[in-house]
Formats: sequence, C-alpha cells, structure tokens
Amino acid sequence: MSNLLNLEVKKIVETPPEEVERVKNWINSAEYKEKNFARQALVINPAHACQPLGAQLVAHGFEGTLPFVHGSQGCASYYRSTLNRHFREPAPAVSDSMTEDGAVFGGQNNLHEGLENAYALYKPKMIAVFTSCMPEVIGDDLTAFLKNAKQKGHIPKELPIPYANTPSFNGTHIHGYDSMLTSILQTLTEGKQIEGRCTGKLNLIPGCDFNTGDYREYKRILKEFGVPYTILGDISDTFDSPCDGSYHIYAGGTKLDDAADSINGKATITIGPYATPKTFGWIKDTYSGKHVSLPMPMGIEKTDALIMKIAELFGKEVPATLKNERGRAVDAMTDSQQYMHGRKFAVYGDPDYLMGYVSFLLEMGARPYHILCSRGSKKAEKELQGLLDGSMYGKGCKIYMNKDLWHLRSLVMTDPVDAIIGDTHGKFAARDAKVPLFRFGFPVFDRVNKHRYPLIGYQGVINMVTEICNKFIDIKDETCEDRYFEMMR
Ligand code: SF4
Repeated sequence: MSNLLNLEVKKIVETPPEEVERVKNWINSAEYKEKNFARQALVINPAHACQPLGAQLVAHGFEGTLPFVHGSQGCASYYRSTLNRHFREPAPAVSDSMTEDGAVFGGQNNLHEGLENAYALYKPKMIAVFTSCMPEVIGDDLTAFLKNAKQKGHIPKELPIPYANTPSFNGTHIHGYDSMLTSILQTLTEGKQIEGRCTGKLNLIPGCDFNTGDYREYKRILKEFGVPYTILGDISDTFDSPCDGSYHIYAGGTKLDDAADSINGKATITIGPYATPKTFGWIKDTYSGKHVSLPMPMGIEKTDALIMKIAELFGKEVPATLKNERGRAVDAMTDSQQYMHGRKFAVYGDPDYLMGYVSFLLEMGARPYHILCSRGSKKAEKELQGLLDGSMYGKGCKIYMNKDLWHLRSLVMTDPVDAIIGDTHGKFAARDAKVPLFRFGFPVFDRVNKHRYPLIGYQGVINMVTEICNKFIDIKDETCEDRYFEMMR
C-alpha cells in the first residue's frame, strides 16, 4: 500500500478481508443492535447541532444584526459553514477568537476588542452575542463584560447588544434559538410598552425553522387573511436573497422598530412549543394582547389548528382561497394515498419537526415505525405516543428518545422500513438500508433548493406528498421487471 506521495506505508494492523466482511455483517445483526442500545457513555452522530448555531440562526432574522460568537474561532466556523452549506448563502458572523490565554485569564479582553472591531468594520444596528462551550466552562460573566464594554466606550451606549449563554454541553440548537430570541426581544422591547396602544398586528414566531419557504408561506397565509403581521426572527430574505451581483451583509430580517413595537401587538403566536418555551413564557408574562403556542403546522390537522386560531384571534372568516387550498391538499393526499398507505418510515429530528412528520404520516395511512430523537423529553415522548395512540396506523410504532443516528442504523438494519425522513446526516444509514431518505430536516447539504419548498401549511402537505410518492414510483420504475413497467402508476 502507498500514500499520495507513492511512499510505501506499512499497515500497523493487518485485517484479513474475511474479518472485515464478518464485522460488516455483524454490525447489521440483532446481537450488535443489543450492544449498541446498551451503550451509555458515548454518542455517535447525534441528530442535532449545538446551541450557538440556533442562536446565530435567529440573530440573522433581525435587521442589521451581526451575530457575535464569544468563544472559539473554530466553533464559529462550524455554525457559519453549516448554515452556509444548508442555505448556499453567506452566513456572516464574527468571533472574538478566544484561545489559550482567554481560557486561562477569561475572555473579557477578546470580547471588548472584538466588539470594537466588529462595530467599526461592519456597522451593525444590533450585535447579538452568544457563547461557545469554552467561555461557559470557565464561567465568563457576559453581563459584566458587556456592561464594561459600554462603560469603557468600546461600543456606543445606545447600540442594542442582546446576549445569551448558549453552552452546548447542555442543550441543542433549539435551546440556543430560544435563549437568543428571548434576549433579543427583551432588549428591543425594553421601555416600549405603551398603555392603551395596540398595533393591531399579529406577531408570529416561526420557531427554530431552517426552511425559508416556510417563512414565506406564513406571510402568504396571513396576507390571504388580510391580517397585519410582524414575523419575529424572519430569516427568509437573509438566507434566500436575490442574486443581483452585489453583496449585502444584512440582506433581510425583521425591522428593529417593528420588533420593538411587537410588545404592543394584538396577539402573538409562537410556533414550536419545544423550540420556544422560554420565549413563549416571557411573552405570555409581558406582551399585550393574546398569546398562543402552536405546533408546527405540518399535515392537515396541525395546519387547520393554525388557520382556525388566526381566524379566532382576529375575528375573521377563513378566506375562500385557503379553504380551496385545503381542499386541493386533501385531494393531493387522496390521489396519492395508495403509494404511502401502510409504508413504514423511520423519522428523526427535533421534537417539533417529529410531531409534524408523525402527524402527517398518520394522516396518509403510513406508519412512523421508528421515531428517534437525539435530545427529547418525557413531555415530547408522551405527546408523540398520544399521536400514535390516536391512529390505527400508530400501532406497533416505537419512540426512541435520546438516541443517535448510529442507533437509527441498527434499527433500520434489523427491523427494516420503506424510507427515512430526516436531514442529510441520515444518508449513510439510508444507503446501508437501501431505502430513500427524504430530506425534510436540517441541515441538508447534499441536495439543492430544499429550503425553498415549504413543509408547513397546505402547500407543505402537497410538497411532502409529491416528493415521497414520486420517489416510491421512481423506485418501482427502476426496479420492476419489464413486464410490469407501465405508463400508468
Ligand atoms: S459543541 Fe461546543 S465546542 Fe463544539 S462546536 Fe459547539 S460550541 Fe464549539
């Protein structure tokens, strides 16, 4: 064996081909699955990202906002490249690049110098600061550091600087999203509540959603209703901006004035109870008007819940256009149900996404057979079980909480399914199991434009049905005997 320089490389351990073959087969066995599920101190390929990544996502959802990582440069590169690869758009963020001296003496100097440079170079209207693991381990006091930064004149006193502690050893991207969003809203709305004022608007928080098409879909639905709105944390233009030959560092986001005035809203809906508990709790105690937390509107039932809630909050009839759209979605499901009926799926991802996938699959008469969440809770498990128990198609389906994608591999190799729904990281298990992977989650690195096709709302139903059923039909066309190769499917 030789390396790239054609130099002879001596293997330290020679593994005979038959031993490689034996292990390859063994990891597909029930015996190996048992050992895999007995694993306790090791996580292999978890189906989530780290807290600061969610914080960065939501920071991009506000006008002129620069995400600022207090911590390691390498961590910042990870969030940026992950967002960049998923959206195929720049994800401009800065870091104060703490190294060994910061780890020993604390990161205040890095933070102050970084803030001063970032403000001078990128002229943001707001800087959203969040942490990587390192400053959390050493216990950096962000509150004091940022107060000092303003006192010492590193940044203007009036510049809004929301900040969030986002230790990744305790939570995932959804928790970082929640903490950062709470802090942004607390900062922007401070002192802005006016007795007797009502903007007449609906505030809508889409939750930790990485699909720009979903944000546009919420806006379209609200326009159909004729309901004035503010989407809080709106990343749709930031990560889906037109290619016009010029670079805009702050391409979109919720206007800061609108975000500040959102505290005087007529009503607030937060989507995704598992990604926004902190934000919703704070809004409920603080914001004027009515407050509702709803699941991601995936599938017919959950979309109906959103539509009916908007109608109720604003005293409006559901517009005929949306009623027709619902009818078309139901028609699309009916036309295609035979391709999904009874099929087994393995699904994994964030709790809010899982509720949506499971609900949608059951509506189609499909079976969400293995449901896997790498960071879930008893509450999420109970809610998922409730969905399964409420449908005859949920019988025999199982939930695996706090398990990773290596567990998923064991599941699909020993108890096969027809397809997997999740993000790109599941492609290895899907390939080994020889089943298709429907990339509806985050991140999606290996397909294009997925984030432009909404998964929420009635349109989302049509998109998911179309993608799944056509793939099954493709497989049939590619694998059937000649005599069964038909024009009609
Ligand atoms: S888990 Fe911690 S160390 Fe790893 S990338 Fe995230 S913040 Fe950085």
